[in-house]
Amino acid sequence: MHRVYLDNNATTPILPEVFEAMRPYFLERFGNASSIHHHGQETRAAVEDARESVAELLGCTASEVVFTSGGTESDNLAVAGWVAAGDHVITSGIEHHAVLNACRHLEKIGCEVTVLPVDGRGLVDPDDVSRALRPNTKLISIMMANNETGVLQPVEEIGKIASGAQILFHTDAVQAAAKIPIHVRQIGCDALSISGHKIHAPQGVGALYVKKGTRIQPLFHGGRHERSRRAGTENVPGIVALGKAAQLARRGSERGADKEIAGLRDRLERGILATVDEAGVNGDGAPRVPNTTNIRFDHIEGESLVIALDLKGLAVSTGAACSSGAIEPSHVLIAMGLLPHQARSSIRFSLGRQTTDADIDFALALVPEAVGRLRAISPRYTKQAVST
Ligand code: PLP
Repeated sequence: MHRVYLDNNATTPILPEVFEAMRPYFLERFGNASSIHHHGQETRAAVEDARESVAELLGCTASEVVFTSGGTESDNLAVAGWVAAGDHVITSGIEHHAVLNACRHLEKIGCEVTVLPVDGRGLVDPDDVSRALRPNTKLISIMMANNETGVLQPVEEIGKIASGAQILFHTDAVQAAAKIPIHVRQIGCDALSISGHKIHAPQGVGALYVKKGTRIQPLFHGGRHERSRRAGTENVPGIVALGKAAQLARRGSERGADKEIAGLRDRLERGILATVDEAGVNGDGAPRVPNTTNIRFDHIEGESLVIALDLKGLAVSTGAACSSGAIEPSHVLIAMGLLPHQARSSIRFSLGRQTTDADIDFALALVPEAVGRLRAISPRYTKQAVST
C-alpha cells in the first residue's frame, strides 16, 4: 500500500546521510569516549565534532552543549537544574508534559509554580510573564514552538524580561529546531532543549544548551561526563547522528528548505479549507513553524479521522493522548479556549524534509472524502448543524 507520513512532530525518519554517519560507531568505532586509548580518542573526537555542529545550529559555543537522552531529559534537566524548595517557577499551560510534569514534581518538593494562560491563537502574553514575577522567581520555562499547533512564542521578549529581572530562562525548542533558525544569544535564554528524533536523527538522543557560567545541578549522579552536567557513558552513535542532522538542517535552511516546507504546508491547509466546510486552523493568525497545521473538523471525532486516513495510507495524528481507554482532549487546545468536542475534532498534519508535492496531493485527495464519510454517519452532523 502507498503510504504517506505526515506526523513528523511525533518523530521523523532518519535521513540516509545521518544513518551513514552513525553506522561506523555501532561497528568498528565502538570505543568509550572516556577511554584514553585509540578507540576512545576516535569516539571522543566524533563526539566533540558533533558538539560543534549542534553549537553551530544553536548559535552557541561547543562547551555550552550538553548531550542528553532526548527532549524529555533536556527539559527535566533545565527545569530541575536550578531550583530548590521555596523557589517560584513560571511556565505556560501549553508546554509539553516533559515541562509541565517536571513542574508538577517541583511543586511536590516545595516550589511554587505559576502556569500562564494563552490567548485564542495559543500565544503567551509577555505582560503576563512580567506580572507573574515574584521576589522568589528563579526560572521561566516557556516553549519556543508548540508541538500540536506549531505556534511560535514571543521568546525574545520573554528573554528580555527574564534577563532584566535576572531570572533564568529555559525554552523548549524541540519543535523549533531545524524548522526555523535558532540563535540562543538573540533569544536571551539560559537553557534550550532539542531532541534528535524530531530533526531526522534517531530516538534517544538530545541536547541542552546551558549558557556559559550558569551552574546546573545534574539529574544523575555518576561520572564526570559532559563536564559534570550529565553523568553516563555517551551514546556515541546517537550523538554523531545528532551532529550530522544539525549540520544538514543548517545547510537545508540556507538552501531555503524551510520556505519549501512552508509552501507545501500552506498548499495542504488551503486545499483542505477550500474543500471541507466547517473546518478551521487552530493557531491561525499566530506565527507558526513552517511544517505544522492543526485543523479542526467540526462534527467528527479526530481519532476516527486518524484511523480512517491510516486505513487509506495517510499517517497523521490528534493532539489527544489516550489514557485508560478515554480520549482526553488536548490540554493545548483546551488552553486556547476550544471546547472539549472541538479539541477532539482536531487533527495535526506535520511535514518533514522528505515530504513531497505528491504527498500533499495524496493527502488532499483523501481528507475531504474521509471527513465527508465520517460526517455522513455522525449523529452530531445534521442538516441543522450545517445551517447554524
Ligand atoms: N518537548 C516537545 C515540545 C516535544 O514535542 C517533545 C516530544 O514530542 C518533547 C519535548 C520530548 O522529547 P523526547 O521525545 O525526545 O523525549
